Amino acid sequence: MILEMLPRFHLAEFPTPIHYLESFSKAFNGPAIFMKRDDVTLLGMGGNKTRKLEFLIGEAMKQEKDTLVTAGGLQSNHCRLTAAAARKAGLSCHLVLNGEKPEIPNGNLLLDKIFGANVHYCDRKDRDRRLSQVAEDLVAVGKKPYVIPVGGSNSIGSVGYVVAMLELETQLKDMHIKPDAIVFATSSGGTQAGLTLGAKITNFSGQVIGISIDQTKTGDEPFLPILTEIANTTAQRIGSHIQLVEEDFSLNCDYLGAGYAMPGDIEFNAIRDLAQHEGILLGPVYTARAMGGLIDLIQKEYFTKDQTILFWHTGGTPELFAWANEL
Ligand SMILES: *Cc1c(COP(=O)(O)O)cnc(C)c1O
Repeated sequence: MILEMLPRFHLAEFPTPIHYLESFSKAFNGPAIFMKRDDVTLLGMGGNKTRKLEFLIGEAMKQEKDTLVTAGGLQSNHCRLTAAAARKAGLSCHLVLNGEKPEIPNGNLLLDKIFGANVHYCDRKDRDRRLSQVAEDLVAVGKKPYVIPVGGSNSIGSVGYVVAMLELETQLKDMHIKPDAIVFATSSGGTQAGLTLGAKITNFSGQVIGISIDQTKTGDEPFLPILTEIANTTAQRIGSHIQLVEEDFSLNCDYLGAGYAMPGDIEFNAIRDLAQHEGILLGPVYTARAMGGLIDLIQKEYFTKDQTILFWHTGGTPELFAWANEL
């Protein structure tokens, strides 16, 4: 592998901690639940996009770009962390956000403003076109934009989660634990593609289960081919001969609820349960949905008392403030 040779821009301290959720595990009388804390990566309130951005910004700097351009929803963690990371790297940042400009920005959108990002609002259906347009307009005025896809999920960003799996391997050895499953929120795919590829590389023996936030196995854009494509292009980038097929991915699509960024009881209950047992927060859009799914799977005895589960906390806690009324 040629991981060490890929351009990388330092954004946070790794490894992120892992700890046992004693009170929370006991509350459900199920498996031992450990948590990997990618919610506390040190940049801009933390989250999984930090690992991807180290490699994406590494590439942008290598190409001597001066402006990052990306897109997402109004409460996008990816956009907030891109805005923060841009500043650390001395770059400007333009964000294309689908949604209406609120009177008072809060949650991630407030942080985007504090990081000095230039925000362009648009409709969801116009988002891809608007993203290209913003980049073209920047070129027209002499800037050098680097466009990062939604969620930072391509073969460059996903390398961050292959590296994360190597990091986990060392930690698990030191802690003498062998999870039967890693459970996490999946949406644009870079995290799952990187972790699943990393699991193959490290011969990880457990399952790597993505709880889908908004993706489906069928429909216009089935997710498994997307995951396979990201993983295999990532393998090529790092000089690995591994090629994955759709069957290599574990994807649970049972917790889509009312849709993306539409949290309900399962998410709000998971937030309160974890907060009140462990003093740890989840975000309503991603991590609360994944944790709600994990709790449901424990209650259905899909996971059993003799097992060990690692919940990979991917962040998103600033979203909480945008759901103050519901909480
Ligand atoms: C983006 C995000 C995810 C999903 O990661 P993908 O790589 O896009 O699948 C999960 N949790 C949080 C908090 C996120 O912001």
